[in-house]
Amino acid sequence: MDRQSALAFARSDVSTLPLYAPDATPCAIDLSDNTNLWGAPPAALDAIRSAECASVSRYPALYSEPLRDLLLRHVGLGQDSACDVITGCGSDDVLDSAMRAFSVSGASLAYSTPTFSMIPVLARLTGLRPAPIPFAENFDIDAERLVDTHAEVTYVCTPNNPTATIASRTAVEYVVRNATGIVILDEAYAEFAPETFVDLLEENERLLITRTFSKAFGLAGLRVGFGVGSSEITRLVARARGPYKVNALAERAVHAALSSHVGGRDWVATHAALVIENRNRLVAELAQRGLTALPSFANFVLVPSPDALRVSRELATRGILVRVITGLPEVPTALGNAKGTALRIGVGPWDMMRELLTALDEAI
Ligand code: PMP
Repeated sequence: MDRQSALAFARSDVSTLPLYAPDATPCAIDLSDNTNLWGAPPAALDAIRSAECASVSRYPALYSEPLRDLLLRHVGLGQDSACDVITGCGSDDVLDSAMRAFSVSGASLAYSTPTFSMIPVLARLTGLRPAPIPFAENFDIDAERLVDTHAEVTYVCTPNNPTATIASRTAVEYVVRNATGIVILDEAYAEFAPETFVDLLEENERLLITRTFSKAFGLAGLRVGFGVGSSEITRLVARARGPYKVNALAERAVHAALSSHVGGRDWVATHAALVIENRNRLVAELAQRGLTALPSFANFVLVPSPDALRVSRELATRGILVRVITGLPEVPTALGNAKGTALRIGVGPWDMMRELLTALDEAI
């Protein structure tokens, strides 16, 4: 019998999509994925080690209910707030579910480009038409153009990956107040930024702010993220997401990280402060080598350079992995002048940064 291959039945959006495959060359120092290079909060690790059989032989909470109050408090909202939370298997899962919840037929997703590389991918997979808008020259979001798309969903990432730059409050407020549809504000790097936009949740029921435990919290391997917004929006995203997405050990670890002082929240705050200190030091050291990083408000820096690919290969031979970003747009000029390529470098303990700088001196 002549049977067609599975390919013949696949959605073309899926069959033409490459698998996510960042360069994962094994290197002694991996600065490529914006995770916490000091490790994970001790309280979270203790919580995993002391888990009992019962916590893994049964299903976890449906929608991470035991984390709800801790998460609200973590973003500065009280239990009496009208807001609610939705967790997910990484904030990827929350973004994916949020897009799926609002991908009505023919809908589009507006976002500033370049941004988190999964955004156009998730848009396609969830059936949203991507509507990329260039950043302004100063890397602020172009609020008016975003709003003028009349997109059903608008995504704003601040601090933004891969640029590490931030959107201004004026621009964010303009988008949140005037966007036609839902606004998703991705604050994955909030712990390193000068401000958060959680206060805007009180006035806008169509805003969802997403956060992650993969960056400052050092728990990328456990895959936990969450969104906070009106109970209406979080409930819709929960429906699109489905139950049991945060596993029992991950929930335990996050609970411990948020509820402990010394080995939890203080540990995270101390290391976020160290990131900021080392980031500023690194930017100055790079400048002395003729490498201009964009102003960074995250735990990584972006260095536009036409030579990025060659330099990254040289670094890899010296045991240091950084992320090469390619295909960057011509606007803003800082990206266009670098022929659309850049090095994205994670910030960690100064010993690692020193080794990076020594390797860079040899590479450039
Ligand atoms: N948003 C941004 C801006 C990111 O950079 C990332 C990870 N690189 C994510 C979301 C997803 O993170 P996670 O799924 O680990 O929470």
